[in-house]
Amino acid sequence: MFPLTDTHAHLDDAAYDADRDAIIARARAAGVTRILAVGIGERSIAATLALAEKHAEVFAAVGVHPNALDALPAERWDLLERAARHPRVVAVGETGLDFFRLKGEDLAAGRRIQRDFFLRQLDLARRLDKPVVIHCREALEETLAILREFGRFRPAPGVMHCFAGNRTQAEEFFALGYTISVGGILTFKNAPELREVVRAAPRDRVMLETDCPWLAPTPHRGQRNEPAYIRLVAERLAELWEEPLEIVAERLAATVRRVFGIV
Ligand SMILES: [Zn+2]
Repeated sequence: MFPLTDTHAHLDDAAYDADRDAIIARARAAGVTRILAVGIGERSIAATLALAEKHAEVFAAVGVHPNALDALPAERWDLLERAARHPRVVAVGETGLDFFRLKGEDLAAGRRIQRDFFLRQLDLARRLDKPVVIHCREALEETLAILREFGRFRPAPGVMHCFAGNRTQAEEFFALGYTISVGGILTFKNAPELREVVRAAPRDRVMLETDCPWLAPTPHRGQRNEPAYIRLVAERLAELWEEPLEIVAERLAATVRRVFGIV
């Protein structure tokens, strides 16, 4: 069995409170030997760091999610700075822009605050020389503009998690040095455009993630997702790239190593 990495898992989510250790063991049994767990906000960061300290296969990313900015109040920012320096933390994030849930008269203010938090986390990543994990929903052009203006700060500055853009946008992120990450949606019947983007992408610019507990791949769609299911996405990717799973797994491992330094 070829080892795989789940590059985006919310292992601290309450969905796993009853069987968290079993879920991690099941991933290992399925050949998912590395999991990048994402801690967002004060409580989630603490829980995620504890998991990374306890399990050899778990690494951490720490940040503040654009939809939950008050999970880390400004006066607690030092906590994120300290957490990001933790030796098991390989990335800052997820951070980014999410205009999907912003509504009404607070729109402009909401966008301004998201942009501010995003820039602060980009700056933190640059200072610590760690990549960023970027969340983006209904804000691809704005995200591109920010990244262009911020400038490239590492050979591999980070990943566009759960990428949902078109081919032109993907190419712009690639030109800025970014990788795209895709998950269960790749297996959904109604996602031909995403499959086309991934098919055309450079072979060293694609990573796989579950984004669990959400977005379980077919045939588990709609149920709780878990890192072990990354294998189903990898199989779909191998079909798209018309390569043996073994080769695809090697390519994915090289990309994870280059971006996150995880071996
Ligand atoms: Zn996430």
